[in-house]
Amino acid sequence: MSVSIEKADGENLKELVDSLNFYEKVERAKELLAWSFEKFGDKSVVANSIGKDSLVVWDLAKKVNPNVRGFIVTTVYKPPETIKFMNDLVAEDKNLKVYKSDKDVGELYKTDPDQCCQILKVEPVREAVKDMDVECWITGLRCTEGRTRTDFKEIEQRDHGLIKLNPILLFKEREIWQYLALYQVKINPLYGLGYRSLGCAPCTVITTDENERAGRWLNTSKCGGECGIHTQPLKAYTDVDLNKIDPTAIHPEEVLAGEISKTDVTDR
Ligand code: SF4
Repeated sequence: MSVSIEKADGENLKELVDSLNFYEKVERAKELLAWSFEKFGDKSVVANSIGKDSLVVWDLAKKVNPNVRGFIVTTVYKPPETIKFMNDLVAEDKNLKVYKSDKDVGELYKTDPDQCCQILKVEPVREAVKDMDVECWITGLRCTEGRTRTDFKEIEQRDHGLIKLNPILLFKEREIWQYLALYQVKINPLYGLGYRSLGCAPCTVITTDENERAGRWLNTSKCGGECGIHTQPLKAYTDVDLNKIDPTAIHPEEVLAGEISKTDVTDR
């Protein structure tokens, strides 16, 4: 069954979150992933945070391309349960590579969490993008996940020579759990304790707040926010004016209809 891909940005994106059913969202995600593997080959790589959303993307990506590569960025502050879960996952899957900063930042998360995330998360992602020669990075972003995630597109270009694909952008939290249960995907046991969004131990707590990411960086200005990998350039961009890049110029319906080639996209 072929799924029609409608123009999905701005208000239309919000409509699609409610109007598409679970099956249609899964098929749409697979089509977007298939496009990225066709256009970028093994330079289309999954950024796998090993949280629930990334695990759905990783499972979908492997269904579309069993040889897909992925990278995990970890820190010294990840909970032991997360480290064990990651080690087990990596032991089973040789296509996953782990990146970690060796810098000693002390307790910088207490005084400057933005800088701490910059050193421990953003920089290793940049290293992974360079080391794995990534041209398209695939993420588990969802537009209903929190206040900072409402203005993303399914296909974006926020820095030079690097496309970002968000294939499950339209999934609701319920549909993530639906997918994980339906396809029996292994998850971090910390979810069983009540966590809804997982991060570093000092910056993640269990909450009963409506906001899914409310337990991240609680009681700081960063509460419910971002570590920075989704808001900063990840690749060399000194020769391009980022203000001239229009991420909204790339629409899923165009790429899936074959109207945009790899060259078109990377040259924008
Ligand atoms: S989540 Fe907290 S401990 Fe982890 S990198 Fe960010 S500020 Fe540092």
